[in-house]
Amino acid sequence: MCGIVGYTGFQDAYDIVINGLRRLEYRGYDSAGIVLEGSNNKLEVEKTKGKVDDLVNISKELKGTAKIGMGHTRWATHGVPSDRNSHPHLSNNGKIAIVHNGIIENYDTIKKMLSEKGFTFQSETDTEVLVNLIQYFMDLNPEIDFPTAVRYALNEVYGAYAITVLHEDYPGILVVGRLGSPLAIGIGDKEYFIASDASPFVEFTKEAIYLEEGHMATISLENGVDIRTITENSKIQPEIQQLKLNLEQIEKGGYEHFMLKEIFEQPKSVHDTMRGRLLVDEGIIKMAGIWDHLERFKNANRIIIIACGTSWHAGLIGEYLIEEYARIPVEVEYASEFRYRNPIITDKDVVIAISQSGETADTMAALKLAKEKGAFIYGICNVVDSSIARITDAGSYTHAGPEIGVASTKAFTAQLTILTLIAFKLGKHNGNLGNADFMSLIAELDAIPKRIEEVLNTTHEQIKEIAKDFVETTNFLYLGRGYNYPAALEGALKLKEISYIHAEGYPAAEMKHGPIALIDENMPIVIIAPKRGHYDKIVSNVQEIKARKGKIIAVVNKGDRQVSEMADYVIEIPETSECFSPIVASVPLQLLAYYIAVYRGANVDQPRNLAKSVTVE
Ligand code: GLU
Repeated sequence: MCGIVGYTGFQDAYDIVINGLRRLEYRGYDSAGIVLEGSNNKLEVEKTKGKVDDLVNISKELKGTAKIGMGHTRWATHGVPSDRNSHPHLSNNGKIAIVHNGIIENYDTIKKMLSEKGFTFQSETDTEVLVNLIQYFMDLNPEIDFPTAVRYALNEVYGAYAITVLHEDYPGILVVGRLGSPLAIGIGDKEYFIASDASPFVEFTKEAIYLEEGHMATISLENGVDIRTITENSKIQPEIQQLKLNLEQIEKGGYEHFMLKEIFEQPKSVHDTMRGRLLVDEGIIKMAGIWDHLERFKNANRIIIIACGTSWHAGLIGEYLIEEYARIPVEVEYASEFRYRNPIITDKDVVIAISQSGETADTMAALKLAKEKGAFIYGICNVVDSSIARITDAGSYTHAGPEIGVASTKAFTAQLTILTLIAFKLGKHNGNLGNADFMSLIAELDAIPKRIEEVLNTTHEQIKEIAKDFVETTNFLYLGRGYNYPAALEGALKLKEISYIHAEGYPAAEMKHGPIALIDENMPIVIIAPKRGHYDKIVSNVQEIKARKGKIIAVVNKGDRQVSEMADYVIEIPETSECFSPIVASVPLQLLAYYIAVYRGANVDQPRNLAKSVTVE
């Protein structure tokens, strides 16, 4: 999920790789490594947990030793950030080196097979399995060459990857491949560059090939770039593009801000969260953290979810999900309040902590308290081996990839995805969710990334226009019911965080108990009104707003009539089961907050007074 740099040419490969890795630092990472093919063709590897500067400290002697090599910044998914888990990884015979971004879903099956054949593993990563699989194919079929062995191996794995591979016995050759993670090849004059995006090589060349899904390439100075399909080995004519973007634009993937990039990444990040966990064809949800402790969850008196900010909103939706599908009582608490109110916790409780960074100080302290009282503690965070991940008894990583924008978007929808998986898994296990319902729900969940994509495609331009009308606005109300009440809270929080407009989220029915006093022709009200989920009641709420001349921005399902007729602005999202609607409805609300903030000239990625991970109480 992070960064790859590769080089072959006439310049010092060490400098190109190290400077390239620095260019990719913006993507976030926890470890870095490099491998060079020196003059004697021996592979020299240096790698470390930490920053590119730490890598430079241990690898300076490699400077000037090679003209071909590759490097990696890792965002751990399988195994903690550590020197050993850092990339590059070597095959057992020490001849093949790999760097990999992404997740190999079936790595454990392959690892078992290779272990039975005598292979050993130095790291906990999925990546090391892949490099040994390449060796395995070469050992097995001495007649096949290195690129063919890579192709064989890639045909055996599923998941997401961008890889670059070197082989000592094939000097001067870089083999790359991609499925689900990006990889670009820079074409210079007598030199080639490889990188996760063009930023590491844009100063050297403006010509690039963006490797397509399911393609691999063999790159050498002698034979240029040979692109093939991974499944069929069919030759592909490369399409060389002229880079028009500047460095900053490339880093943001052509988007104006990281936040917008991350909003648009959500079809992929939600998919990544489910990767290897949701096996629709087999009808199972496979999550080690839950799987190993199912009885603990099943016998829990109650589940207490603790979190702050956006994660707390995810927790509220988690409450609806777990109570509905697993019928286990859930309480959701602000971590800061929980720890200072002498809460009653017993060893029959399960406490779930949600934190994007895994470092949130209040959540960490609340967890310690729960642990002292004997509760079983479970973590949901996006950063592998973060403080929260380390103190919990078990947990699930959200695998949304690093989030750079301070206001959380893709980490939030990833948290909702994990909570949905947990609720379905527990419900199936304790018998509250029947098999037929389970099967139809997981099939629908599997298609949620597509629904998000649809929403992005159909609402983006429209929301850009709507946002223009609210640049001068000073207050906003967000209303929703059921599952979409927390989605309304989150919509309001997004707007507050980045546009500095005062916004409040409310359960729609609560409006009559106070906020209705605020409604007049100057008050915009965002109302989330999908078909499934108390629609008739929402219709009445909308009528009440209309009678007071409030400006209604309605998020409704396609084909909606009743609410749409009363609304001033209508944003359509696809119809889903109610439990999925917060994921789908959050996307237009993120876009709305984003564009209002942009038009107001706010610093969207780094809003004033806010930090990405709140490590103080
Ligand atoms: N899954 C691999 C690992 O955990 C690669 C992670 C990445 O994309 O950086 O090492």
